[in-house]
Amino acid sequence: MKKFLISLLDLIYKKRCYFCKKSYENSFMCSNCYNSLNKNSLQAKMIYNNVNIFCAGKYEKTMQKLIRGIKYHKQKELAFYQAKFMSEYYKNLKLTNNYQVIPVPLFSKRQKHRGYNHMELVAEEFCKMTGLKLNTKLIKRIKDTKPQYKLNKKERIENLKDAFIVNKSELFPNLDVLIIDDIFTTGSTFESMITELNKNGIHNITCFAAATAN
Ligand SMILES: [Zn+2]
Repeated sequence: MKKFLISLLDLIYKKRCYFCKKSYENSFMCSNCYNSLNKNSLQAKMIYNNVNIFCAGKYEKTMQKLIRGIKYHKQKELAFYQAKFMSEYYKNLKLTNNYQVIPVPLFSKRQKHRGYNHMELVAEEFCKMTGLKLNTKLIKRIKDTKPQYKLNKKERIENLKDAFIVNKSELFPNLDVLIIDDIFTTGSTFESMITELNKNGIHNITCFAAATAN
């Protein structure tokens, strides 16, 4: 009976892989599923106003489930794995390592509704892994923008116009800026943030997304 109870408890409390549902590794993402994420080459995906935009991987099956799990299904534990994937790619880039990390902010109402900013969770883990400093106060989102996926490039730019505001007093001096996001599509979000930072005289910027949709 005791044995039965223990195995029952094991079954209930053992962590299952969110992707393949197996529990043998007792983790939210088993090494098999993690290793199925493919990394991109170390080249910048795009350069905008002299800012390099890097994307760690592709937005394919497992990556989609990983990002959507954190973003929409409250699987906060998965932030660790997205951060791990990003930090491995980041370390291979061998950049200056002299950054403050800025997760793309959400509009306050949206963040309240969701309960958290998923990219902030990823950024926290990412900073632990890389030793970089987190800065969640430098840039605020002041416009409740429409979801971008239905819009074309021109509409995206219009949608994101004046969406962000920079509070320069929150800038950590002597550190460059590393903006991180989950999905890179046309780059409009990064562009809008870069423009706003440039307006405030901040020019040493790098952008980094977990995955590229194209
Ligand atoms: Zn798995």
